[in-house]
Amino acid sequence: MKIAIYPGSFDPITFGHLDILKNAAGIFDKVIIAVAYNEAKNGFLTTEERVELIKQSVKDLTNVEVDSFKGLTVDYAKRKGANVLIRGLRAVSDFEFEMQLSQTNSALCDDIKTVFLTTKPEYNFISSSTIKEILNNGGNISKFVPEPVFKYLQNR
Ligand code: ADP
Repeated sequence: MKIAIYPGSFDPITFGHLDILKNAAGIFDKVIIAVAYNEAKNGFLTTEERVELIKQSVKDLTNVEVDSFKGLTVDYAKRKGANVLIRGLRAVSDFEFEMQLSQTNSALCDDIKTVFLTTKPEYNFISSSTIKEILNNGGNISKFVPEPVFKYLQNR
């Protein structure tokens, strides 16, 4: 069974993340979308809120599991029996960071490979940080995030 981990902040999950996840779910037997605890980064939503919103947003995807983890992604992947990490690429600006991250993870654990996926063009520009910016300025985020996220954040 080929298990892949899709790690990230997902603060909050967007249509961009969801599209990457759907593509990955079509390729692998099981995909675990996992929110990484980051003590250095002050989050907008708590890890528990992010996990809950992801769960509500991926209900239709039967081979997707939602989780969170602390520590190194490669250690988490090993615990889960996964040897593939999924990351999304948007613009060339993502490339340098993602390349460094994937090579660092390979250096830490040679068995774990990163697979990069892209989204449909209409989701390519969406990022969690612009969602927060729009929200903080009273804008409407319904075009960019799954419905459970929209409902939760509009009421906050
Ligand atoms: P990070 O893990 O760097 O904090 P995110 O949680 O925002 O970042 O995203 C997780 C992964 O999803 C990253 O690989 C990121 O490049 C990718 N991603 C985010 N938004 C999009 C998008 N709109 N299109 C393609 N990939 C995306």
